[in-house]
Amino acid sequence: MKVNQADIVISAASKKQYPKEFIPEIALAGRSNVGKSSFINKMIQRKNLARTSSKPGKTQTLNFYKINESFHFVDVPGYGYAKVSKKERAKWGRMMEEYFAEREQLQATALVIDVRHRPTEDDCVMYDYLKHFELPVMVIATKLDKIKKGQRDKQLKLVAETLEMDDADQLIPFSSETGEGKDAAWKKMLEHLNS
Ligand code: GDP
Repeated sequence: MKVNQADIVISAASKKQYPKEFIPEIALAGRSNVGKSSFINKMIQRKNLARTSSKPGKTQTLNFYKINESFHFVDVPGYGYAKVSKKERAKWGRMMEEYFAEREQLQATALVIDVRHRPTEDDCVMYDYLKHFELPVMVIATKLDKIKKGQRDKQLKLVAETLEMDDADQLIPFSSETGEGKDAAWKKMLEHLNS
Protein backbone atom coordinates (compact mmCIF):
# COMPACT_ATOMS: atom_id res chain seq x y z
CA MET A 1 0.00 0.00 0.00
CA LYS A 2 1.47 3.31 -1.05
CA VAL A 3 0.41 6.24 1.09
CA ASN A 4 0.67 9.45 -0.90
CA GLN A 5 -1.33 11.59 1.40
CA ALA A 6 -1.85 11.60 5.14
CA ASP A 7 -3.16 14.69 6.83
CA ILE A 8 -4.74 15.43 10.15
CA VAL A 9 -8.32 16.51 9.55
CA ILE A 10 -9.31 17.34 13.08
CA SER A 11 -8.63 16.59 16.72
CA ALA A 12 -12.23 16.18 17.82
CA ALA A 13 -13.21 16.68 21.43
CA SER A 14 -16.85 15.87 20.78
CA LYS A 15 -19.17 14.32 18.24
CA LYS A 16 -20.17 17.55 16.56
CA GLN A 17 -16.57 17.98 15.43
CA TYR A 18 -16.32 14.63 13.65
CA PRO A 19 -15.84 14.95 9.89
CA LYS A 20 -19.17 14.76 8.08
CA GLU A 21 -17.65 13.12 5.07
CA PHE A 22 -18.89 9.60 4.45
CA ILE A 23 -15.68 7.71 3.80
CA PRO A 24 -14.77 4.46 5.62
CA GLU A 25 -12.84 4.60 8.88
CA ILE A 26 -10.51 2.39 10.86
CA ALA A 27 -10.12 3.21 14.53
CA LEU A 28 -6.84 2.66 16.36
CA ALA A 29 -6.94 1.80 20.04
CA GLY A 30 -4.44 0.73 22.66
CA ARG A 31 -3.00 1.21 26.08
CA SER A 32 -1.03 4.42 26.65
CA ASN A 33 2.59 4.02 25.59
CA VAL A 34 1.98 0.67 23.90
CA GLY A 35 3.33 1.95 20.57
CA LYS A 36 0.13 3.09 18.84
CA SER A 37 1.55 6.33 17.42
CA SER A 38 4.61 4.47 16.17
CA PHE A 39 2.29 1.95 14.51
CA ILE A 40 0.34 4.70 12.73
CA ASN A 41 3.48 6.51 11.63
CA LYS A 42 4.99 3.28 10.29
CA MET A 43 1.82 2.41 8.38
CA ILE A 44 1.66 5.80 6.69
CA GLN A 45 5.43 6.22 6.34
CA ARG A 46 5.61 9.42 8.31
CA LYS A 47 8.11 10.05 11.02
CA ASN A 48 5.86 12.11 13.18
CA LEU A 49 2.32 12.68 12.05
CA ALA A 50 0.81 10.84 14.98
CA ARG A 51 2.44 12.14 18.13
CA THR A 52 4.74 9.62 19.76
CA SER A 53 5.39 9.58 23.47
CA SER A 54 2.92 12.32 24.20
CA LYS A 55 2.05 12.49 27.85
CA PRO A 56 0.10 9.34 28.65
CA GLY A 57 -3.53 9.95 29.32
CA LYS A 58 -3.41 13.57 28.21
CA THR A 59 -4.69 13.43 24.67
CA GLN A 60 -8.43 13.38 25.19
CA THR A 61 -9.35 13.86 21.57
CA LEU A 62 -10.16 11.64 18.63
CA ASN A 63 -7.63 12.43 15.93
CA PHE A 64 -8.93 11.94 12.39
CA TYR A 65 -6.31 11.42 9.69
CA LYS A 66 -7.32 11.34 6.06
CA ILE A 67 -5.33 8.86 4.04
CA ASN A 68 -4.99 9.02 0.24
CA GLU A 69 -8.18 11.05 0.05
CA SER A 70 -10.12 7.83 0.53
CA PHE A 71 -10.45 6.84 4.19
CA HIS A 72 -9.82 7.93 7.77
CA PHE A 73 -7.62 6.56 10.47
CA VAL A 74 -9.11 7.55 13.81
CA ASP A 75 -6.63 7.59 16.66
CA VAL A 76 -8.55 7.22 19.90
CA PRO A 77 -6.99 8.21 23.25
CA GLY A 78 -4.97 5.55 25.03
CA TYR A 79 -6.23 3.78 28.11
CA GLY A 80 -4.78 2.11 31.18
CA TYR A 81 -2.72 4.98 32.47
CA ALA A 82 -2.86 4.71 36.24
CA LYS A 83 -2.53 8.39 37.11
CA VAL A 84 -5.75 9.46 35.46
CA SER A 85 -8.43 10.94 37.70
CA LYS A 86 -11.86 9.39 37.97
CA LYS A 87 -13.28 12.42 36.22
CA GLU A 88 -10.88 12.09 33.29
CA ARG A 89 -11.64 8.39 33.07
CA ALA A 90 -15.37 9.05 32.92
CA LYS A 91 -14.79 11.62 30.21
CA TRP A 92 -12.74 9.11 28.26
CA GLY A 93 -15.57 6.58 28.60
CA ARG A 94 -18.14 9.00 27.28
CA MET A 95 -15.91 9.90 24.37
CA MET A 96 -15.45 6.25 23.43
CA GLU A 97 -19.14 5.50 23.73
CA GLU A 98 -20.08 8.48 21.59
CA TYR A 99 -17.80 7.28 18.84
CA PHE A 100 -17.99 3.48 18.90
CA ALA A 101 -21.72 3.19 19.51
CA GLU A 102 -22.78 5.46 16.68
CA ARG A 103 -20.21 6.09 14.03
CA GLU A 104 -21.55 4.61 10.83
CA GLN A 105 -18.35 5.09 8.86
CA LEU A 106 -16.44 2.80 11.23
CA GLN A 107 -15.47 -0.47 9.53
CA ALA A 108 -13.00 -2.06 11.94
CA THR A 109 -10.66 -1.33 14.82
CA ALA A 110 -6.97 -2.07 15.12
CA LEU A 111 -6.22 -2.84 18.76
CA VAL A 112 -2.52 -2.41 19.46
CA ILE A 113 -1.06 -4.58 22.21
CA ASP A 114 2.51 -5.34 23.33
CA VAL A 115 3.61 -8.79 22.14
CA ARG A 116 6.08 -9.09 25.03
CA HIS A 117 3.43 -9.33 27.72
CA ARG A 118 0.18 -11.05 28.48
CA PRO A 119 -2.59 -8.55 27.57
CA THR A 120 -3.67 -6.54 30.60
CA GLU A 121 -7.13 -6.54 32.11
CA ASP A 122 -7.68 -3.19 30.35
CA ASP A 123 -6.73 -4.74 27.01
CA CYS A 124 -9.25 -7.53 27.56
CA VAL A 125 -11.97 -5.05 28.53
CA MET A 126 -11.24 -3.00 25.41
CA TYR A 127 -11.38 -6.04 23.16
CA ASP A 128 -14.71 -7.13 24.68
CA TYR A 129 -16.03 -3.59 24.40
CA LEU A 130 -15.29 -3.52 20.67
CA LYS A 131 -16.86 -6.94 20.19
CA HIS A 132 -19.93 -5.74 22.05
CA PHE A 133 -20.46 -3.35 19.14
CA GLU A 134 -19.92 -6.30 16.78
CA LEU A 135 -16.89 -4.66 15.25
CA PRO A 136 -14.16 -6.58 13.45
CA VAL A 137 -10.93 -6.21 15.44
CA MET A 138 -7.42 -6.58 14.10
CA VAL A 139 -5.08 -7.21 17.02
CA ILE A 140 -1.70 -5.66 16.27
CA ALA A 141 0.94 -7.38 18.41
CA THR A 142 3.67 -4.77 18.28
CA LYS A 143 7.29 -4.55 19.47
CA LEU A 144 7.95 -7.89 17.80
CA ASP A 145 11.60 -6.89 17.42
CA LYS A 146 11.93 -6.97 21.20
CA ILE A 147 11.40 -10.72 21.57
CA LYS A 148 13.48 -13.63 20.33
CA LYS A 149 12.22 -15.43 17.24
CA GLY A 150 11.87 -18.60 19.28
CA GLN A 151 9.41 -16.91 21.63
CA ARG A 152 7.07 -15.57 18.96
CA ASP A 153 4.62 -18.44 18.67
CA LYS A 154 4.31 -18.79 22.42
CA GLN A 155 3.69 -15.07 22.94
CA LEU A 156 1.20 -14.82 20.09
CA LYS A 157 -0.71 -17.78 21.47
CA LEU A 158 -0.74 -16.16 24.90
CA VAL A 159 -2.16 -12.95 23.41
CA ALA A 160 -4.91 -14.72 21.45
CA GLU A 161 -5.87 -16.91 24.39
CA THR A 162 -5.87 -14.13 26.98
CA LEU A 163 -8.04 -11.88 24.83
CA GLU A 164 -10.22 -14.89 23.96
CA MET A 165 -10.10 -13.71 20.38
CA ASP A 166 -12.88 -14.43 17.94
CA ASP A 167 -11.89 -16.83 15.17
CA ALA A 168 -12.91 -14.18 12.64
CA ASP A 169 -10.42 -11.63 14.03
CA GLN A 170 -6.79 -11.51 13.00
CA LEU A 171 -3.69 -11.32 15.12
CA ILE A 172 -0.93 -9.50 13.28
CA PRO A 173 2.65 -9.62 14.58
CA PHE A 174 4.19 -6.18 14.00
CA SER A 175 7.26 -4.06 14.60
CA SER A 176 7.41 -0.31 14.10
CA GLU A 177 11.16 -0.66 14.32
CA THR A 178 11.65 -3.12 11.44
CA GLY A 179 8.37 -2.74 9.55
CA GLU A 180 7.63 -6.43 9.89
CA GLY A 181 3.87 -7.08 9.62
CA LYS A 182 3.19 -3.88 7.75
CA ASP A 183 2.08 -5.56 4.53
CA ALA A 184 -0.12 -8.01 6.42
CA ALA A 185 -1.71 -5.16 8.38
CA TRP A 186 -2.41 -3.15 5.22
CA LYS A 187 -3.83 -6.18 3.45
CA LYS A 188 -6.33 -6.76 6.25
CA MET A 189 -7.16 -3.08 6.60
CA LEU A 190 -7.91 -2.75 2.92
CA GLU A 191 -10.20 -5.77 3.12
CA HIS A 192 -12.12 -4.05 5.92
CA LEU A 193 -12.16 -0.72 4.11
CA ASN A 194 -13.44 -2.27 0.90
CA SER A 195 -16.01 -4.57 2.44
P1 GDP B 1 1.77 5.39 22.21
O1 GDP B 1 1.70 6.14 23.51
O2 GDP B 1 0.97 4.13 22.26
O3 GDP B 1 1.46 6.21 21.02
O4 GDP B 1 3.28 4.87 22.09
P2 GDP B 1 4.51 5.38 21.19
O5 GDP B 1 4.27 5.08 19.76
O6 GDP B 1 4.84 6.76 21.58
O7 GDP B 1 5.66 4.37 21.68
C1 GDP B 1 6.08 4.27 23.01
C2 GDP B 1 7.56 3.88 23.04
O8 GDP B 1 7.73 2.58 22.49
C3 GDP B 1 8.45 4.81 22.22
O9 GDP B 1 9.67 4.97 22.90
C4 GDP B 1 8.66 4.03 20.92
O10 GDP B 1 9.87 4.33 20.29
C5 GDP B 1 8.65 2.59 21.41
N1 GDP B 1 8.15 1.65 20.37
C6 GDP B 1 6.94 1.70 19.76
N2 GDP B 1 6.79 0.68 18.89
C7 GDP B 1 7.94 -0.04 18.93
C8 GDP B 1 8.41 -1.22 18.25
O11 GDP B 1 7.73 -1.85 17.41
N3 GDP B 1 9.67 -1.65 18.58
C9 GDP B 1 10.45 -1.03 19.50
N4 GDP B 1 11.66 -1.55 19.75
N5 GDP B 1 10.04 0.09 20.16
C10 GDP B 1 8.80 0.59 19.88
